[in-house]
Amino acid sequence: MSAEHATTPRPAAAGSAPRIVTPYPGPRARAVIERMRAVEGAGPRTGGPDAPLVVDSALGSILTDPDGNTFVDMGASFAASTIGHSHPAVVAAIRDQAGRAAHVSSAAISEVRVAFEEALLGIAPAGLDRVLLGLTGSDANDTALKLARTATARREVIAFSGGYFGRGSGVIGLAGKAAVRTAVGRDTDAHFLPYPYPYRWPLGPGEAAGEAALALVRHALEDPASGYGPVAAIVVEPVQGNGGVVIPPAGFLTGLRELCDRHGVVLVFDEIQSGFGRTGRVWAAEHWGVVPDLMTVGKGVGGGQAVSAVVGRASLMSHWTPGSHTTTFMGNAVNLAAGRAAIGVLRDEGLADRSAALGTRVLESVSTALAVEQHVGEVRGLGLFIGIEIVSDRDTRAPDATRAAAIRRTAFERGVLLGGGGHHENVIKLCPPLTIDENLLDATVELTIDTIKGAR
Ligand code: PLP
Repeated sequence: MSAEHATTPRPAAAGSAPRIVTPYPGPRARAVIERMRAVEGAGPRTGGPDAPLVVDSALGSILTDPDGNTFVDMGASFAASTIGHSHPAVVAAIRDQAGRAAHVSSAAISEVRVAFEEALLGIAPAGLDRVLLGLTGSDANDTALKLARTATARREVIAFSGGYFGRGSGVIGLAGKAAVRTAVGRDTDAHFLPYPYPYRWPLGPGEAAGEAALALVRHALEDPASGYGPVAAIVVEPVQGNGGVVIPPAGFLTGLRELCDRHGVVLVFDEIQSGFGRTGRVWAAEHWGVVPDLMTVGKGVGGGQAVSAVVGRASLMSHWTPGSHTTTFMGNAVNLAAGRAAIGVLRDEGLADRSAALGTRVLESVSTALAVEQHVGEVRGLGLFIGIEIVSDRDTRAPDATRAAAIRRTAFERGVLLGGGGHHENVIKLCPPLTIDENLLDATVELTIDTIKGAR
C-alpha cells in the first residue's frame, strides 16, 4: 500500500456496492462469528439468532465483510458515522495525534482538547458556552442529569414515552421502553408523559398532539395535586431516534421552553442522534428556534471515535468543585483530534445543508413509491433522517414489527443495512452518512423501496 493510500482511504466506488458475492455468512464471516460466540457473554445484539455482520473494512458509506460482500450503511452504524466511515480528514488527524500523544489524563490538558471544545462551542446554539466531555452518549446524559439535579437541588425528572438516552445506570431509568430497564434489573427514574407522536397520539392522530402533550406537562408542573415533587429537569430528544424518527409538532419544544422558564426547570435536549447535521440543521431544535439549557452530543461528533459532551449555559455548569467530573479517557487526545476534524468536515462540506437537500429528495421518492402500500402507514423525515412506519394495515395502524424485521433482513441479504426502531420496533430508519454518494443513495433507496414492496 502506498503512503498516499495509507493516509487517505477513499470510499469504495459507488458501483461496487451493494454486492453480494457469497450468501451471508460466507466462510470467513462464519469463522469470526463462531469465535465470538465462544467467548462473549450474553446481552449484545450480536448474540441473536441471525448472523451479525462481520465488518472487515468500513469506508465512507460502504462496509465490506471478510468474504468480499459489500453493504451500504443506510443506518450509519447506529447513526454514528455521520461524516462517513474513516473520513480522510479524521484518519489524518488520528495518525498525527497518535504519533504525538494518545492518552492524556483528564487531570492534564492537551491543546487538542481545548481546540475540540472551542470548535464544538463554535457550532453550538447561542447562549451555550461551556462544555464537559465524556465518551458515550450515556455518559453525556448522565452528566447533564447530575448538573441539573445539583444546580436546582431538586431530584425529579420528566421524560417521554419512546425516549432513549443510553444504558448507563444514571440514565437507563429515563428509557421510555421499559424492556431496556427490566432486561438488566433497573427501575424507572423519571415521570413519563406521552411524546407528541402525531401518527400514534392516543386521543386520535394529528398535530393536536403537540398542544395536548404540553397540557400534560403543564398539569404535572402546576397542579399541586399532580403527584409530582419539585422537578429538576425535562429531558427530551428534539426528534426521537430510537423511538422511530418521531417529529414533534411545531410549538411543542417552544412550549417546553416556556414552562421550564416559568418553573425553574432545566431543559435538556439530547441531540446525540438528531444533532450534528442529521436533520438538515446542525441541531434539530434549530428547526423550531428553541435553545435548551443543556444539550448533549455524541455519536457523529467523534468522527467515528468515542466522544460525547454536555454543552450548556455557564450558569448551570460552574458550580462543581474540581475533581467532581472525570473519567480516565475523557481527555483522550486521539478521540478529540478525530472530533475536531469531524466538526471541520461538517462545516467545510456543508453537511447539514446536504442532508436537507438529499433528505427532501429521498422523502419525496419514498413517499411517492410507497403511497399505496397497505403495510406502510407513514413516511416521515427531516433531512437524511427518515422513518417508514410498517403496519399490518393502514386503517387500524396496527404496528407490524415482524414484517419490519423481515424487511430489514431481506435488505441485508441484498447488501443494504437499514436502521430500525420505533415505539413498537416497527419503524425502518434511513439515516445514511451525510457524505453518501448521490448515485449510491438513489440506487440504495430504489432497492429499499423494492424490498419493502416485496415484503410479505
Ligand atoms: N441518546 C440518544 C438519543 C441515542 O440515540 C443514544 C444511542 O442510541 C444514546 C443517547 C446513547 O448513546 P451511547 O450508546 O453512545 O451511550
